[in-house]
Amino acid sequence: MIGDDWGPDTPAWMKSALCRETDPDAFYPDKGGSTVWAKRVCGNCPVRAECLEHALQHNEKHGVWGGLTERQRRRLQERRRHDNPIIDQPDDNTAA
Ligand code: SF4
Repeated sequence: MIGDDWGPDTPAWMKSALCRETDPDAFYPDKGGSTVWAKRVCGNCPVRAECLEHALQHNEKHGVWGGLTERQRRRLQERRRHDNPIIDQPDDNTAA
């Protein structure tokens, strides 16, 4: 969910966020509350992919971002880690 506090570092895609035109409370429902409306808005948002990647990269813990709830984003992150495990590489700087 994109707010209206713009700064010089605000990514350009946020200006096209459809949720800027809606009720922000729908994106942060109380526990057990419905996310149907927020997900419907996200489904029509032109910057959904950018929004989801932003949320994942910034570890957004709350609210609906890119059409996914916190739990769904957590699962997506776990799947990505499973599919693309980071392999520890030896430090190559010591090689002569
Ligand atoms: S995908 Fe959803 S939360 Fe993200 S910018 Fe669009 S409407 Fe807002």
